[in-house]
Amino acid sequence: MFTLIAEKRQKVLDELGQGLSRECNACRTPFVPVKGFERLCPICFKLDRGYELYVGDKALLQLQEQHRTLQAEYDALGDRYRRVRSKAKALMKNSSLLPQRVEQLIRLCHPDKHGGSSLSTEVTQWLLSVRKK
Ligand SMILES: [Zn+2]
Repeated sequence: MFTLIAEKRQKVLDELGQGLSRECNACRTPFVPVKGFERLCPICFKLDRGYELYVGDKALLQLQEQHRTLQAEYDALGDRYRRVRSKAKALMKNSSLLPQRVEQLIRLCHPDKHGGSSLSTEVTQWLLSVRKK
């Protein structure tokens, strides 16, 4: 029974065609224009004309709102991905300079240049441990 329903669903989808969706001028959700010239989705068309919305129309309206929510989440994730990627690139760039900077600091802090002070010894030991990592 469900196989037959699936076949009928696919037949309708095939009739609608693939990749021919258009964005509704009023609500900006995608829809498939059946006649090819429609500029409004079926829901906005009916609302514009003052036609009654049937159960199927109301179900489509709910799906359009779910689509809008998911699209907003998708867009937000895309923005977040681009920000994280940008930060990662900056960190990679800085981390490649770190070994060179550690060597410079070791030379500057070496205890021989600071009368063997305990602070320079401690900092140099820490820098040496950082260099090993
Ligand atoms: Zn619409």
